[in-house]
Amino acid sequence: MIKRKEIFYLSILFIAISLAFQSCKLDVKKVQDRLEKVNESASTQQTEDSIIPKGTNAFKKLLPYRKEGWTELTIKDGFAVDIRYATKNNFTNSQIYDCPRCLLRDDVAASLNLLNQHLIQKYNLRIKLFDCYRPKAYQQRLWDKVPDPSYVTPPAKGSMHTRGMAVDLTLVDSLGNELDMGTEYDFFGKEAHYDYTGHDAKIIERRQFLRKKMKEYGFEGIRTEWWHFSFGSGGYDLATFTWTCER
Ligand SMILES: [Zn+2]
Repeated sequence: MIKRKEIFYLSILFIAISLAFQSCKLDVKKVQDRLEKVNESASTQQTEDSIIPKGTNAFKKLLPYRKEGWTELTIKDGFAVDIRYATKNNFTNSQIYDCPRCLLRDDVAASLNLLNQHLIQKYNLRIKLFDCYRPKAYQQRLWDKVPDPSYVTPPAKGSMHTRGMAVDLTLVDSLGNELDMGTEYDFFGKEAHYDYTGHDAKIIERRQFLRKKMKEYGFEGIRTEWWHFSFGSGGYDLATFTWTCER
């Protein structure tokens, strides 16, 4: 039988162990906070001068944007980047995004990176990115300009772009010239349909080549826009964050 005195000492011991464990947990939290601060300051020390294609807009410098689960693709990864909604050169004739960034879910970006390397090495071509993740706030701006569901997805519904799983793109040659795909990006009409048969054989061949390569790397196209591809059928939730624009 345990004596009262022993119960007393055991209780003291239990309290001491609990306190030690608690303070250990606090220390871990402190270390994590410190590490986050170090990472933040490291990322703001790096500069990236040339994500922005010529004549895009007034942003001279963008610092890399880091967010867990997301990857930013830039010209440093070998892509051509022209985020059209960060310019007035889009079907709304107005700037929708505050600055140009291509963010995608990690696995989506990793696959696109692999494909781009393959295209560079084997075909001397590279991917030009027109649009990637589209934050909900920007989808709302787009909707406010063009409140027509045939052209713009209603913000409440959200799209694969809002999930960070869709990308709008084309191919450029080694000099950065876009390959002729039959229509401009965001052209609304049957000529932009993937299965439109009125184009030259060369154009149809290029579209088929792009779609075949995208499919090899896990991306599916849609019928009405030759430039739009979604990664797998996977289920990421709609995202809401808006990236920052450091000047
Ligand atoms: Zn798209």
